Amino acid sequence: MSATKEYALLCLENPLLDIQAQGNDDLLAKYGLEPDNAILAEEKHLGIYEDLLNNYSAKLIAGGGAQNTARGAQYMLPPNSVVYLGGVGDDKYAAILHDAVKQAGLRVEYRVDKKEKTGRCGVVITGHHRSMCTDLGAANHYDLDHLKSPEVWKLVEGATHYFVGGYHLTVCPPAIMALAEEAAKNDKPFVFSLSAPFIPIVFKDALDATAPYWDYVIGNESEALSYAEAHGLETKDIKEIAKHLAALPKANKKRERVAIITQGTDPTVVATNGEVKEYAVHAIDGSKITDTTGAGDAFAAGFTAGLVAGAPLAQCVDQGQWLAKLSIQELGPSRRSEKVST
Ligand code: ADP
Ligand code: MG
Ligand code: MG
Repeated sequence: MSATKEYALLCLENPLLDIQAQGNDDLLAKYGLEPDNAILAEEKHLGIYEDLLNNYSAKLIAGGGAQNTARGAQYMLPPNSVVYLGGVGDDKYAAILHDAVKQAGLRVEYRVDKKEKTGRCGVVITGHHRSMCTDLGAANHYDLDHLKSPEVWKLVEGATHYFVGGYHLTVCPPAIMALAEEAAKNDKPFVFSLSAPFIPIVFKDALDATAPYWDYVIGNESEALSYAEAHGLETKDIKEIAKHLAALPKANKKRERVAIITQGTDPTVVATNGEVKEYAVHAIDGSKITDTTGAGDAFAAGFTAGLVAGAPLAQCVDQGQWLAKLSIQELGPSRRSEKVST
C-alpha cells in the first residue's frame, strides 16, 4: 500500500464495551427486545447487562461501530495511520478498551469522564440474529470542547480523511458538523456511516444537516430502507435509494458523492454520478461463518482504508468485502484477538 501521512484517518463515534452472549426468546421478551435490532437503552433495559454477565456467561468485547471500523482500517494501513475519538469513563471497562486498541495499533484520544461509566452494548445472539441495546454512559458526554482542544484539533488538521459513525448523531452533532465543515473547506473526504435503522427516523434532522458533507455514505439495506421511509421516497428499490443518496445536494462541489449500500450476501450497491453498479460478495462457506456481528463495520474499515491509500473505488469495495469476510470468520482484527472474558 502506498505511503500515507501519520494519522491520515480520523474517526469519531461512541466507544463501547460489548457484553455479548447467546440468549433466547425469553431473554428478549423480558426486556422487550426484537431479535434483530439496535436501540438505545431505556430505564427498563438497564438490568440486562448484569443479567447477561451473571446468567448467560457473556463475553466482554471491545465494540462501538466506528471504533471497530477504526481498528479494522488500522489493520489494513501502515502503523500510526488511524486515530479515534470518543468518550469513556475512568473504569475497568475503559481499561479493557485501551488494551484492545493497543493490540490493534489504534491510537485513541478519549474524552475521559470521571463521573460516568464507560458505555455498554448488550448483544443478545439468538440463532443468526443479534439484538443490541446500548447504554451510552460516558460516550454520551463527548463534546465540542474535546474536539476543539489544541492537541485533538491538531490531529483533525493533520488528517487527510474523516470517518464518522452515525450513532454519534445521538451524542454530539456539533462535533460531527465541525469535522464535516473542516472536510469540505479543505477538500478532504468525509465518510459517514448510517449505522442503524433508527438513526434516519429518530435523528432525521441532525442526519439531514450532515448530508451535504457526505463524500461517501455507507449503510446496509435496512438502513437504506429506513432512510427512504423517513424521507418519503416512494421506492423500496435499494439501487434507487442509493442513487437518491448520491444525488443529494453537496457542500464540496469538487467531489462527486458515492453512496454504498451493503446487503449481507447480496451484491453491494454503489451509486455515483447518476449511475449504479453492483459488486458481488465473495461467497463464503456457511460452516465458516462464526459471527456476522460487525460485518458492516469491517466493510467500512476495508473500504475506508482503500480510500486513504488512494485506491480506485472498485478496489475500495473489494477491500471492504475482503475485510468483512475475514471478520465474519473471526479472523479479522476487530474480533478474535480481543475477546476478553470476565
Ligand atoms: P451489517 O453488518 O451492517 O448488517 P451487511 O450485513 O450488509 O452489514 O454486511 C456487510 C458486508 O459484509 C457485505 O457487503 C459482505 O461483503 C460481507 N458479508 C456479510 N455477510 C456475509 C456472508 N454471509 N458471506 C460473505 N460476506 C458477507
Ligand atoms: Mg446485515
Ligand atoms: Mg452495520
